[in-house]
Amino acid sequence: MTPAPSAIQDLAARHSKTGPADPSDVLVIGAGFGGIAAALRMRARGHSVTLVDRLDAIGGRAQVFERGGFRHDAGPTVITAPFLFDELFELFGERREDHLDFRPLDPWYRFHFHDGNQFDYRATVEDTNAEIERFSPRDVAGYAGCWRHPGRFLRSGSRSSPTGPLPV
Ligand SMILES: Cc1cc2nc3c(=O)[nH]c(=O)nc-3n(C[C@H](O)[C@H](O)[C@H](O)COP(=O)(O)OP(=O)(O)OC[C@H]3O[C@@H](n4cnc5c(N)ncnc54)[C@H](O)[C@@H]3O)c2cc1C
Repeated sequence: MTPAPSAIQDLAARHSKTGPADPSDVLVIGAGFGGIAAALRMRARGHSVTLVDRLDAIGGRAQVFERGGFRHDAGPTVITAPFLFDELFELFGERREDHLDFRPLDPWYRFHFHDGNQFDYRATVEDTNAEIERFSPRDVAGYAGCWRHPGRFLRSGSRSSPTGPLPV
């Protein structure tokens, strides 16, 4: 996740403008992914945008920190909706691929249980279903039901459709 905030910050810097305050100026409080995206969308519409955060670094929960010699993600580990990043770059006539390299992961997550079992949250719904089936066959149908609601939500918020498993 580390490169995303800085690449998005670079995008914002390249398209920033300075000048006197205007009634249409926009102030966005909070520079997590949500605030950064809102600021970029407002900027693409021609507003002068100021983005502030109480922390020194932008990115909100998408921070990375080191402790005890290990690197930790404070929040998102995988990008579950890459098309939303693509849209932000497209707003400025740029291509995300020219700035950020997204690499597919499989599995997305591996859960280790105290009894030595492990569960892989995989890159396709079919492979994830196979994992669920190993533990509890009757929950495969429940997972499909759980998928339907956020699938509708994601489709309504974007021109693109989610193609992989759900963000968890
Ligand atoms: C453990 C964990 C794992 C996750 N894993 C994933 C994942 O794998 N994939 C995925 O897509 N998503 C994942 N998420 C969700 C993702 O992290 C969040 O949806 C996303 O980062 C939220 O962005 P945001 O901008 O809405 O909020 P935040 O990232 O919380 O940003 C809010 C910002 O507002 C600032 N702020 C708050 N109050 C003020 C104030 N009064 N003045 C100034 N600034 C203020 C904060 O400092 C912060 O920077 C995960 C979240 C967590 C916690």
